Amino acid sequence: MTITSMKELLQDATTKGYAVPCFNAINSDMIRGIVQAAEEEQSPVILCHAEIHLKYSTLEHLAPILLEEAKRARVPVSILLDHGKSFNAVIKAMHLGFNAIMFDGSEYEYEENVRRTSEVVRIASQLGVTVEGELGYVTRPKSGGAEGEDDDTIIDDTSLYTDPAQARNFVERTGVDALAVAFGTVHGIYLKEPQLDLDRLERIRQSAGVPLVMHGGSGLSQEDFAQSIDRGIAKINYYTGMALNVAERLKEHMARAEEKVFYHDLMMSSIAYFREDAANIMRSFRSNGKA
Ligand SMILES: [Zn+2]
Repeated sequence: MTITSMKELLQDATTKGYAVPCFNAINSDMIRGIVQAAEEEQSPVILCHAEIHLKYSTLEHLAPILLEEAKRARVPVSILLDHGKSFNAVIKAMHLGFNAIMFDGSEYEYEENVRRTSEVVRIASQLGVTVEGELGYVTRPKSGGAEGEDDDTIIDDTSLYTDPAQARNFVERTGVDALAVAFGTVHGIYLKEPQLDLDRLERIRQSAGVPLVMHGGSGLSQEDFAQSIDRGIAKINYYTGMALNVAERLKEHMARAEEKVFYHDLMMSSIAYFREDAANIMRSFRSNGKA
């Protein structure tokens, strides 16, 4: 298939009541495992690369692989720059063929977030590129194993959650196609039981008027996903749980091996483990059978 617009994927998810899985894929093994899972499960999928992961692979390196996989895949695939913060990364990603940008201006005060996000939308819309903004702040606790600019913000500091009335204002003024919202999820591993503010999510859905995005999907229950999807979440970002799970399985693989272990065996096992993990996630997000 040709690369599919993320806006179209999210519209379909909103209509049919599921969430499109968005996986951070930092190398070709991850990409292959995830695309195989999407084909087996008949699920649309978003492959993304985050600006904080550029230390693992550059955009120039990954873009041709991502575009080739999207073209060959028998299911709809969209390619997103995740947590784009610098103008440089955002423009480069669009130039290299990414057809969606998650612009993260959440660390700025409100007016500056509006100004920067609007600027990205103004350029992206000329190129048919979908833009996701972020309002509120999904924390990234240092001891939770998430990467990037670790912070020590309090996980359940509700002042960081998305304000429903402001969400409408933000969407109207910036023109974003989708909105990442904060209502109790965190990036990385949950250090304590997540408490999702589902009433707030429902109010955000009613006021925002665009598909909503959950970041920090690792560690939530099936029930958490279902309730969030029922309240307007149409895309869920997933990475940490998978990265940890596959590494654990590789450790077991190494421990079981009685003879020599070759790198190519680990590589093939990695692809299979990513495929299994991604397939489970797709079923949790109800995106299976929707391609
Ligand atoms: Zn995120």
